[in-house]
Amino acid sequence: MNYLSTRGGIAPISFREAVMMGLARDGGLLLPERYPDVRDRLDAWSRLPYADLAFEIMRLYADDLPPETLRAVIDKSYAVFDTPEVTPVRALGRVHLLELFHGPTLAFKDVALQFLGNLFEALLRDSGEELNVVVATSGDTGSAAIHGIRGRERQRIFVLHPHGRVSPVQEAQMTTVPDANVFNFAVEGTFDDCQNIVKTLFRDLPFKDAHHLGAVNSINWARVLAQVVYYFHAAFRVLRETGRERVRFAVPTGNFGDIFAGYVAWRMGLPIDRLVLATNENDILSRFFQTGVYERGAVARTLSPSMDIQVASNFERYLYHRAGDDPATVRAWMEEFAPTGRLVPAGAFPDPLFLAGAGTTEDTLAAIRDTYATTGVVLDPHTAVGVSVALRHLSDEAPTICLATAHPAKFPDAVRRAIGRDGLATHPTVDRVLNLPRRCSVMPNDAKAVAKAIAEVV
Ligand SMILES: *Cc1c(COP(=O)(O)O)cnc(C)c1O
Repeated sequence: MNYLSTRGGIAPISFREAVMMGLARDGGLLLPERYPDVRDRLDAWSRLPYADLAFEIMRLYADDLPPETLRAVIDKSYAVFDTPEVTPVRALGRVHLLELFHGPTLAFKDVALQFLGNLFEALLRDSGEELNVVVATSGDTGSAAIHGIRGRERQRIFVLHPHGRVSPVQEAQMTTVPDANVFNFAVEGTFDDCQNIVKTLFRDLPFKDAHHLGAVNSINWARVLAQVVYYFHAAFRVLRETGRERVRFAVPTGNFGDIFAGYVAWRMGLPIDRLVLATNENDILSRFFQTGVYERGAVARTLSPSMDIQVASNFERYLYHRAGDDPATVRAWMEEFAPTGRLVPAGAFPDPLFLAGAGTTEDTLAAIRDTYATTGVVLDPHTAVGVSVALRHLSDEAPTICLATAHPAKFPDAVRRAIGRDGLATHPTVDRVLNLPRRCSVMPNDAKAVAKAIAEVV
């Protein structure tokens, strides 16, 4: 399988090269040249355990890796989850909940970042190179990336988070990791500022090359690929349980990474009738799917901080396909959007695959409260946004699977506010990290300062 850039400025590259490159060198995003149609295999795949299914899906896209290497990376990655199902599904009133929080940091990003850390290790072992991962986070990516890379040879990780704008649990999960290859920078700005700094560093190709920078943001194709697996795994189980022919997924969305994986699963032939995109008040994406206008606003702080994002980096992948896979159109759209913050991409809207909605703070609290009252299950605020929007878009034919992206113990304040009681959202992993010593440097919102700090370490 070859990989191309959404902006058309690089020669086709292999999976291995795409993983190491992260963001395409022309500033675009990397995509496989095609999506294999797997409809003839769905039946055979439908009873596979998680790791076997992951192997079958990933080998289609990672065909330049020896199969035994891919298999070992997958097995190692999913053995650390606390349930053999890896991503179990449970019925929850009128929706099914796909629990993606059984990894070491209790958020769905572990599914991809455990895989990516192990994959980097295997690729670097072969090439003898080293890698310095630089990542911007609104909270969950950083902790999941740190836990994917900590203690690994030939890798360091530098994590930029918006100072004071991640939850106390997220902050503890990032800054209490004692491994010498982990560096935390608290940037005086928003998540978008952190992301802009990372993009600036990656655009400086001499700096990037000299310091062996690599990406683990959801722009890395390997992350999207790892997330494709649980759409299949969950759909198979719910289709079997309900006897239906199609499913609908509701996805709490920030960077459009997770839901893009659902789009890939649909392109491969998984019977998905709709993808329901759910945002919080940072609703640039839900507005786009309702009106066709893609327009940036100011970042609002909400109860679901991992979705406090205005410009979704993965959206360019989707736009590329809506442009008929034409890089010139993507370049023109991005050139229009960059200075104006507004784009009406001709022909991209409407897309009948997508439904969309925004969950406000009130909606989020109500979803947590009502779900607890009716089922006894405590939702985290990101999942609650997804459930709230999912309930507006139920179908009689296609059961809805809502992605549960974090364990509620990561966000006890929102749970307390919703239900009015303490102690409902706990997890031993969280209790442990809250009391450990922290390591973190506060940084100005300035790419040069961050570059200097990285260069000093490397
Ligand atoms: C990152 C994150 C999201 C958003 O995922 P994207 O891939 O950025 O759309 C939703 N919920 C939680 C808990 C997250 O950590």
